[in-house]
Amino acid sequence: MSPASPDRRAATMSATPYRETAFTNGYEFTQGSGYALPEYPFVAPPELTAGQHPRHPVVIVGAGITGLTLACALAQRGVPAVLLDEDSSVGVKGASSRGICYTQKSLEIFQRLGIYDRIAAKGIQWSVGRTFAGHDEVYAFDLRQQSNFQLSAQPAFINIQQFYIEGYLVERIHALSRDKPGVDLRWRSRVVGFAQGDGFATLSVETPGGNYQMEASHVVDASGSHTPFHQWCHAGMQTKRGDDRWCIADVRFATRAPAERHTWIEAPFNDNRAVWQHLMADDVWRIDYQMEPDADPALVSSEAQVRARLQRQFGPDVECEIVWVGPYAYRSQCLDQLRIGSVFFMGDTAKIVSPFGARGGNTGVADADNLAWKLAAVLRGQAGAALLDSYNDERLEAAQQNVLVTNRTARFLRPADGMERTFRSAVIGLARRYPFARQMVNTGRMAVANSYTHSSVCAKTGGLSVQNVGFHWADGSAGCVNDLILWAEGCLLLLVFGDLSPIACERLASLGRHAPVRSVQVLGPDGRAHVREAIRDPLGHLQGACHVFGHAWALVRPDAYLAATGEAVDSSLVVAIEHALGLKAGVPA
Ligand SMILES: Cc1cc2nc3c(=O)[nH]c(=O)nc-3n(C[C@H](O)[C@H](O)[C@H](O)COP(=O)(O)OP(=O)(O)OC[C@H]3O[C@@H](n4cnc5c(N)ncnc54)[C@H](O)[C@@H]3O)c2cc1C
Repeated sequence: MSPASPDRRAATMSATPYRETAFTNGYEFTQGSGYALPEYPFVAPPELTAGQHPRHPVVIVGAGITGLTLACALAQRGVPAVLLDEDSSVGVKGASSRGICYTQKSLEIFQRLGIYDRIAAKGIQWSVGRTFAGHDEVYAFDLRQQSNFQLSAQPAFINIQQFYIEGYLVERIHALSRDKPGVDLRWRSRVVGFAQGDGFATLSVETPGGNYQMEASHVVDASGSHTPFHQWCHAGMQTKRGDDRWCIADVRFATRAPAERHTWIEAPFNDNRAVWQHLMADDVWRIDYQMEPDADPALVSSEAQVRARLQRQFGPDVECEIVWVGPYAYRSQCLDQLRIGSVFFMGDTAKIVSPFGARGGNTGVADADNLAWKLAAVLRGQAGAALLDSYNDERLEAAQQNVLVTNRTARFLRPADGMERTFRSAVIGLARRYPFARQMVNTGRMAVANSYTHSSVCAKTGGLSVQNVGFHWADGSAGCVNDLILWAEGCLLLLVFGDLSPIACERLASLGRHAPVRSVQVLGPDGRAHVREAIRDPLGHLQGACHVFGHAWALVRPDAYLAATGEAVDSSLVVAIEHALGLKAGVPA
């Protein structure tokens, strides 16, 4: 893939500055002229060339970051799927880079999928965030000091333009699908019609080579915020729109400042409105200015206005290349349910959140990772069909939580006149002087791995994300949780900490023969191995990541979430496994 060499970008930029400024009240942007994206060809599918009409086990609609993550995870597991996208490139039409900031949980998922090294090499790591009000710094954090981020093999955050990640995923899907059943990626293939059948759905697809119909047992709608599926499926939802308006300027400066996240709640150089500043790949800075309520998008994104804003912030002599400009508004939206018949909603079709806290794309990636292993396990006959319903339990809870958190930030950044504004002024005033008030300054709570407290397949002790921490293999070499998950090949991973009695060893061996479970004994610095698969956790990091202490077991799912934990290797473990695979009804203990 070749998204934009800087030289090509600069050349295109000067030829067509700010052409075709457009705006709607959703996630739709000016097509900036500064990023050159790869073009993927349309290839006529067997439905058109050979008149074949097989029923596909999985069809994914939308090759954005969410649909591509799901497709890549299915390709890795050898699950055949078709991915349809109306476009012929990465990056949403007219929306260019949009997302920039990717959390540890997403980076861990990308590591499992095999694209993390490219992201780390291209992107910018950051951990320090500073918040200003006027000329005063009111709040600062360093994520490296926070214990919850420290132990993973991946950093707290990496900033990189969304289209790079999407491009890496496309290439990885092709590589994974070369030698085994994989994902058929179909570009310029727009879904224009849908009918729900009994246990399957029929999709009508429009392409440059003609139209065709296809049947699918499972349809995943990852077609973004303008999805037609909401209407087709009569999906119920809660939606909120506001008058808050923003304008992004992606710029490249002659000099390079530290890779810190700076936010201003009240920036003196932006009429006391908010400003965000982040470094991304290719030395491009994302500077995001809050505009007046209901500001005219054409006006605020004009070159003259953008340059004037940059000069007010960085001084009249600032030298910078403007790579891309995009005015935007946002809405918040959450579906009432994420599965309707054979259709699963994920990413921006499941929920839409304001961009504060980088929760949109990151939670789309987590949606995909959640459904991928469940689809694979059900299609392989290793799990009950009920497992697929737990996608709704778990990811709806996450969606609602993310909407709640981002709506609070949006209200802090654009408070209503009256009590809300008075509260914000009081918080800012207090935060300048007293540390206790700083945690009330809400310029965005960064995305986290959501916990599942209402899952039909997780026990009360489960539902927590397991960080990608390190351990030692039996030969002393270093490994991490993702290595174990990949070794388990889509099965549940049972980690048993401490000594094992002969009866426990026998039971684990029997479990391995009869259930899709792979067991590993986890020893401290000096313990003795009782089974062939044993690793060492000398510093207790793995045990901490699994949220257990002493002699215990932890049942880890392929999406690095705990299904359950317990102590004795007995029938309670068997019940936990049955619940985790959707084979047992009722609420897990
Ligand atoms: C200013 C801004 C900053 C942001 N920053 C961040 C950030 O830092 N981190 C983060 O995680 N998120 C961020 N987000 C949110 C993030 O960009 C979105 O949540 C994310 O793009 C959603 O991905 P998606 O794959 O679900 O949908 P989309 O990216 O919208 O992809 C949908 C795909 O479906 C295709 N499609 C649509 N209709 C059809 C059809 N009928 N048939 C076939 N294909 C179709 C489209 O071509 C497209 O490729 C930001 C958003 C904005 C606006």
